[in-house]
Amino acid sequence: MRRSSARYLLRVDDLCPTVRRDRWRELAGVIYKSRLRPILAVVPDNLDPALCIDKPDGSFWQQMLAMEQEGAAIALHGYQHRALSRGRSLVPLHRRSEFAGVPLSTQRSWIRSGLEILRSRGLSPTIWVAPRHGFDRNTLKALREERITLVSDGFARRPFVRGGLTWIPQQLWGPVEKRSGLWTICLHTNTITSEQLEEFAEFVSAHVSQFVSVEQAIAQFPALPLTVFEEIRENAGYARRAIARIRRGMMRRLCLERDSEGPLHANPKLGGRQIALTKADRDTKLHADQAQSRG
Ligand SMILES: [Zn+2]
Repeated sequence: MRRSSARYLLRVDDLCPTVRRDRWRELAGVIYKSRLRPILAVVPDNLDPALCIDKPDGSFWQQMLAMEQEGAAIALHGYQHRALSRGRSLVPLHRRSEFAGVPLSTQRSWIRSGLEILRSRGLSPTIWVAPRHGFDRNTLKALREERITLVSDGFARRPFVRGGLTWIPQQLWGPVEKRSGLWTICLHTNTITSEQLEEFAEFVSAHVSQFVSVEQAIAQFPALPLTVFEEIRENAGYARRAIARIRRGMMRRLCLERDSEGPLHANPKLGGRQIALTKADRDTKLHADQAQSRG
């Protein structure tokens, strides 16, 4: 059997002191056991209630620092993780975001403050991870001014240069075997299920030699601008993802409609199929759907 030349990079999003602690500890165990060197996307000053799962963990910043010392890359994951802007993003996966469409001076101030907060905790952020994939040319300009030269985003199959920064693509939200190229698997500790974590751990065991750090990814895949063909493929990927999101939204609405009509209801829009979901099931599903492509 021919060995796959694919490389994988783990990215963990939405890290802040109020992260869901049990799942984060479990994932951290996998990271340490297999000596992975992930991108840790840390929110500097979280004000997003969706990320307040547990009481603030007094050892959170120390944990980030320890993992960075083991080779993880610290990413600036926005500033306060709020999605109040409707500007168009360079990665058009969501309508609302924290950064896209916000004036340059504000973005500059948020990025500067975010970096200062992370640095005041002893961390050395080197890469940008936009909440909800939302950022624009002004974000890139502000990042360049702060000497952040790496972005984790985009649907290419290798790192590439755009807007004066090196983009390391992020295309997966769970383990998928690939034949070639560089694939970033993004996990959300707050919403991942135990089964998904187990599946990821098994994938790591089977492919541990194919996991790379940010430095290794850049060394193994020299970054050049994308070709026209690669750009077409990238845009087709965004379109497919947008359609999938609309479909999930429609299913969610149908579920809620069904909910308002009782816990067990034959909905003609679902072909008369009867599905009983407890409220806890629905809340979990809703949260997971929202988080899947949130970034
Ligand atoms: Zn996020």
